[in-house]
Amino acid sequence: MKILLIDDSKIEQMVIGSFLDHALHKLIIVSSGEEGVAAFLSEQPDLILLDVMMPGIDGYEVAKQIRASEEPWVPIIFLSGKTSPEDLMEGINAGGDDYLTKPVDPLVLSAKLQAMERIAKMRMQLINTTTQLEQANIELKKMSLSDGLTGIANRRYLDHALPLELARAFRDKVAVSVLLIDVDHFKKFNDYYGHLEGDDCLKKIAQTLTQACKRSTDSVSRYGGEEFCIILPSTNQKGAIEVAKRINQLIRDLAIPHMNIGPESMVSVSVGIFSYLAETPIDCNDFLSYADQALYQAKTAGRAQHAIYQSN
Ligand code: GH3
Ligand code: MG
Ligand code: MG
Repeated sequence: MKILLIDDSKIEQMVIGSFLDHALHKLIIVSSGEEGVAAFLSEQPDLILLDVMMPGIDGYEVAKQIRASEEPWVPIIFLSGKTSPEDLMEGINAGGDDYLTKPVDPLVLSAKLQAMERIAKMRMQLINTTTQLEQANIELKKMSLSDGLTGIANRRYLDHALPLELARAFRDKVAVSVLLIDVDHFKKFNDYYGHLEGDDCLKKIAQTLTQACKRSTDSVSRYGGEEFCIILPSTNQKGAIEVAKRINQLIRDLAIPHMNIGPESMVSVSVGIFSYLAETPIDCNDFLSYADQALYQAKTAGRAQHAIYQSN
């Protein structure tokens, strides 16, 4: 252990120094409370041996300052000539973990060091386990919100994020747009190329949709089978159309053959657009159903294109 001894007496410093097994412990010695607090911050010791009566700030005050700092807990053992139960109580109340009266017996000191080291180790293990658990929880949460096949966000994420996004748009009176994207004739794609090739195609489309969204606030999620949903916060209809056009262009650039439609055919997508102007509150289901109606229009108009929801 790295042990910090805070004691103004040169004799005590020598005595404690001679008690410690220097093969096991590194000893740092300071002679005042002020230096002790500074050494605690700079040296990050594993344990502190703290005299009570010192010129300047006394040991109790040192313990209080150490406990008030942001640093992790380290054991503090008081070494004091004051022997009454009230003195011991004051030391523990100030933040000390043990209280030894001088003259200190070398065997008692060694036993106390062992006990404190054991507690410090258990505490470290607890911290490590807690950190691992926290990381595992973050990982689990990420997994529960992402789609296993494509790696983008899933429907659960959308169900969670959409109400928040719509509420924010209404509160801030800013537009928010949604794109519903459905792969054209995808059943025929699977029938012709097989399911694995179909899965691969969906992965490429998910990547392309992500690439089409330029703002960090845009979110792409897999809505279901071969349908995707993009939420574009702070984006009006004009901006949404721009993204939809970019999507159709990038999918064309992918040039994935779809021979089950025709010898020259490529995979394409249809996009339904709805822009919410935040004038009145809106329900998530209505918000999505408007985009779905627009998607239907894009499909019936011949696919491989976008359509905008018309309220008429
Ligand atoms: P449309 O142009 O009208 O959208 O026709 P479509 O064939 O794409 O639409 P339909 O809804 O009839 O079929 C969707 C197909 O998408 C059904 C299924 O074979 C395929 N599909 C859905 N989820 C997955 C998936 O996770 N992997 C694969 N490979 N195919 C999927
Ligand atoms: Mg579909
Ligand atoms: Mg489809």
